[in-house]
Amino acid sequence: MKNKNLMLYFLLAGIVLGGICGWVFGPKMMVVAWMGEMFLNALKMMVIPLIISSLIVGIAGLGDITKVGKTGAIALIYFSATTAFSVIVGLILVNVIRPGDSVALASAIPAGVADKVDTGITDIFLSFVSPNLVESMVKMDILPLIIVALVFGGILTTMGEKGQTVIKFFDAINVAVMKMVHLILYVAPLGVFALIASKLGAAGGGDLFLAELAKIGKFAFTVVGGLLIHGLIILPIILYLVTGRNPLAFFKGAGQALTTAFSTASSSATLPVTIECAENFNNVSRRSALFVLPIGATVNMDGTALYEAVAAIFIAQMVGIPLGFSDQVIIFLTATLAAVGAAGIPEAGLVTMVMVLQSVGLPLEGIGMLLSIDWFLDRCRTTVNVWGDSIGSAVVDRLEEKFVEGGP
Ligand code: ASP
Repeated sequence: MKNKNLMLYFLLAGIVLGGICGWVFGPKMMVVAWMGEMFLNALKMMVIPLIISSLIVGIAGLGDITKVGKTGAIALIYFSATTAFSVIVGLILVNVIRPGDSVALASAIPAGVADKVDTGITDIFLSFVSPNLVESMVKMDILPLIIVALVFGGILTTMGEKGQTVIKFFDAINVAVMKMVHLILYVAPLGVFALIASKLGAAGGGDLFLAELAKIGKFAFTVVGGLLIHGLIILPIILYLVTGRNPLAFFKGAGQALTTAFSTASSSATLPVTIECAENFNNVSRRSALFVLPIGATVNMDGTALYEAVAAIFIAQMVGIPLGFSDQVIIFLTATLAAVGAAGIPEAGLVTMVMVLQSVGLPLEGIGMLLSIDWFLDRCRTTVNVWGDSIGSAVVDRLEEKFVEGGP
């Protein structure tokens, strides 16, 4: 849509109206669930062709392989540093607020988690490759696709004219898919409304939500507080210091992506909109947007990392297991890795949390305590995940200009 502000206002209105309707009418709002699902699926439909074409074009845009390596290193440093900052914010808050002290553990291991009890750190490494690429596409296992597209694109750049022909082919696919994304965005306000209204409705409406919130409200407060500190203070400071950009204007530019992230609770489904906002509204160079954002949507999850660390300590506080400094360092490391391993889909963080809890011997039953309001906290952390990716594309863009393009 040409008028980005108008679209943003429509999207915000969709969220607010959806919230009000879901709150007031409760389960009745399930009648609009199909509209939300249709919007979500339309976005998801774009994800695989977009990721593959974006990374190939992005890599090709970076130029020769040494430049790719340097830019990749810059992106990796940004991803690790911001994830670390967010986990530290979470750890400080949860140790100060101590949300688990007065709560009793009363739940069982949730079904979706029960079959993941053997998940370990090596499984994250294993998820980087896949025995069957087509199956990965079907299951939307994005990590192997990223690896293949990166290597494939890199090799194409070394193949002269032949390689250029294939790159042009993927470039055209990329442009066409982005045009399809524009079309989908026209119905986004309706989709956003339906997603929020039906989700809040399915959760039983406002009264039930408040009742659930009351049970572990201090925990939710800690998570949301941490996300706000990271999203509204730390990330904007990084953006300003590195790029000199106005964080408020950048926030507005990323607005459509952030509202979509909040409504879908999925970084992957939001990716088409994140790319659109970065390129068209925030003037991030196409090569940086196409290179950084698909990877960021899958591996860079500041909000999820913060959530996993806070949740682990919350569970420890609930069951009265004191965690020393070394345990907290282990949680810091595993929460970071668990966020990398979490897919960009709703509630993926709950599943990879198994690894964090097991690393310090905490009971998996604790995850059950978080289930009732995870649908809400998931939206909040996904918004921060996408915000972190968006800022990452601008930061890498600037540093690449400085150290790779203009550098030695
Ligand atoms: N829903 C999150 C995302 O897509 C992942 C998670 O924390 O569950 O970014």
